[in-house]
Amino acid sequence: MPIESPPRTHCALAELLPDACAGVLHSHHVLPVSAGGDPEGKQVWVCAHHHPMLEHLARRVLRWRTCSHRPGTHRYPGAKELCELYLNSGG
Ligand SMILES: [Zn+2]
Ligand SMILES: [Zn+2]
Repeated sequence: MPIESPPRTHCALAELLPDACAGVLHSHHVLPVSAGGDPEGKQVWVCAHHHPMLEHLARRVLRWRTCSHRPGTHRYPGAKELCELYLNSGG
């Protein structure tokens, strides 16, 4: 396996997710370069199994779109939240 610079110990998500780690460790940018992060910025090690999940979750929160409807458009409790879920569920 190639030698990487930061110490690779274990997957950063190991205790947080119910399924076991698998595969080699990948370096993951805490703030993705695609979202304006520094390529030399902070990175964490995550296993090959959990890395796609982390990318998926990070993308969702970084690109979260908020409802832009006029105040009062969503009159029922939770309706605005549902609107935003719908906005963010597509692509
Ligand atoms: Zn893992
Ligand atoms: Zn809305």
